[in-house]
Amino acid sequence: MQAKLTVLGSSAAVPSNNRHLSAHLLEMHGHSLLFDCGEATQFQLLKFKKNINRIEYIFITHLHGDHFYGLVGLLSTMNMKNRNRSLTVFGPKGLQEAVDVSFAVSKMELAFSLSIHIIEPEGRKLIVDDDDFKVFAFPLKHSIPTYGYLLKAKKAMRNIKKEFANSHLHIENTWFARIKAGEDYVNSKGEVISNDEITISPKIPPSYAYCSDTAFLPQLASWVSEVGLLYHESTYLHQDEDKAALRLHSTAKQAAHIAKMAKAKQLLLGHFSGRYKDVSPFEEQAAEVFDNVILAQDGMEITID
Ligand SMILES: [Zn+2]
Repeated sequence: MQAKLTVLGSSAAVPSNNRHLSAHLLEMHGHSLLFDCGEATQFQLLKFKKNINRIEYIFITHLHGDHFYGLVGLLSTMNMKNRNRSLTVFGPKGLQEAVDVSFAVSKMELAFSLSIHIIEPEGRKLIVDDDDFKVFAFPLKHSIPTYGYLLKAKKAMRNIKKEFANSHLHIENTWFARIKAGEDYVNSKGEVISNDEITISPKIPPSYAYCSDTAFLPQLASWVSEVGLLYHESTYLHQDEDKAALRLHSTAKQAAHIAKMAKAKQLLLGHFSGRYKDVSPFEEQAAEVFDNVILAQDGMEITID
């Protein structure tokens, strides 16, 4: 199984021309999951050609506006686009009321089933157990109750042996995906070649953690231990560490320390404060601690496998 992450917004509280507010979309094996939903997330989904009615789950970290003011608008559009599949939203206390009040004053009724689950985990807690993946929630350290999320796929893709791939370049492309998913190969004569013969054991299944917003929280490393892609907010640069501490945010270096302690494969930084015109020092400072760092940019796609 392979997952694809699309960054929809990478700015801190104030949006700019080229950076929207927090939201990440994770697509995997036909599933579509949204993490945070800052204002205008639906426009970003439209811009990057994502089908909003495919979204099955929305995970809200906290109720600061830059992380959830886009939710009511998105739900309303889903309704107008004749959504009929159910939608599950997770988030902190107050989320249900915020949605209810908005719909009550607009006299709006959703035609699809929406369930909002309020979470208050004190440690790492399993909140979704799907056939293909699990999602855990855990507390972050911020000025209001805030939770991070960890997604772990259950299955990894098998790797096709080179000899088979090279000698079967002529077969339909879709076969490669099916074989990677574990299917036996059936050739044009109807002969079955067992999957074991043509693939090798899968790697560790993909995993992704979404940690925004938070002050430096060493405990976090154990909750996201060995994650494939760690998204960790880095609102500030090292020279503004005191401001980060005061406002319960992190610096690029602190995020890198979490990635290092967690033995993450890759670190994605975002939620950059608008005070910095040039974001390249975020990468430089994080790289002093952890060597696989990416800076989030709106529209960026990252494959997690
Ligand atoms: Zn916040």
